[in-house]
Amino acid sequence: MGEIHVMREDLRPPDAPPKRHFISIRDVSRDELERLLATARQFERSLEREVKKLPTLKGRLVINVFFESSTRTSSSFELAAKRLSADTMSIKSSGSSVDKGESLKDTAITLGAYDPDVIVIRHPQIGAPHVVARVTTAHVVNAGDGKHQHPTQALLDLYTIKEEFDRIDGLHVAIVGDVLHSRVARSLIQALVMMGAHVTLVGPPTLIPRGIEAMGCEAATEIGAIAAADVVYALRMQRERMEEGANYVPSLREYAARWGVTAARLRPGQRVMHPGPMNRGVEIDPVVADHPDALIERQVRAGLVTRMAVLYDLLTSGPVGVTPEVELGAA
Ligand code: ASP
Repeated sequence: MGEIHVMREDLRPPDAPPKRHFISIRDVSRDELERLLATARQFERSLEREVKKLPTLKGRLVINVFFESSTRTSSSFELAAKRLSADTMSIKSSGSSVDKGESLKDTAITLGAYDPDVIVIRHPQIGAPHVVARVTTAHVVNAGDGKHQHPTQALLDLYTIKEEFDRIDGLHVAIVGDVLHSRVARSLIQALVMMGAHVTLVGPPTLIPRGIEAMGCEAATEIGAIAAADVVYALRMQRERMEEGANYVPSLREYAARWGVTAARLRPGQRVMHPGPMNRGVEIDPVVADHPDALIERQVRAGLVTRMAVLYDLLTSGPVGVTPEVELGAA
């Protein structure tokens, strides 16, 4: 047996593993998505108990920074952190120093000085979460960056579909409407394709990006294409992201008439989803939105447990697997 030489490198402590973030669906594998869904399921069970708080993230700090309006995403992240006993702080751009012209980088450095464990950020600029990840030591979760990504929305949508159909693989999902400006669509297409679903995008040609089929989906311009789908997912018309003066559709009334998701266009058994906020009467008919076949309220509930799963997963950094519920509390 030859002599063993100790190299200088062997004496150096190993590098800390890279910080884990959840910025894009591209950051995760199918196995990781499955793991997050299983963890969320465990948390859903824990919420059935009378006392809903778990001690899991006690002493951790989660900061939510929202530079764009939000109801569902911001409230669910805040409640998710609270249900796991983390300390939380929520910052909105209006009323903060962002109003005074502070840059994203300076805001992030300021918040980073409190040593947060997680920063959840929503920002109109694509790539904003990467800036935060570069200048702080926190785990970063993207709660929506411009029209780019909204990975936790995709996760909650997967969870809702899986709870309803008991599978995702092999299902057919039609995503209808303003795909061009939708971060929800971009994340969801990637996540569904990764999980083995068949995805059809439906909408006016002006709102379906050219070449999007490269993401593994197909595209159609006639609303009749939703007939074959198990799930019809309506997107909001993202007027705030549309270029001024550009006429993507002749009018909202015309859009509703040609691409609105109405009861007459659905067949029994199809499930309808929408990320919210809804423009009732534009992309979705109020009768459809309020029908028991709509999963929209279930999506909101799924938002809480899937965001608990993401915070837990990032902060416990290890394969969570399907552990008994009690171990989640004890971690
Ligand atoms: N709430 C979702 C988002 O922030 C969808 C939407 O606004 O239409 O992207």
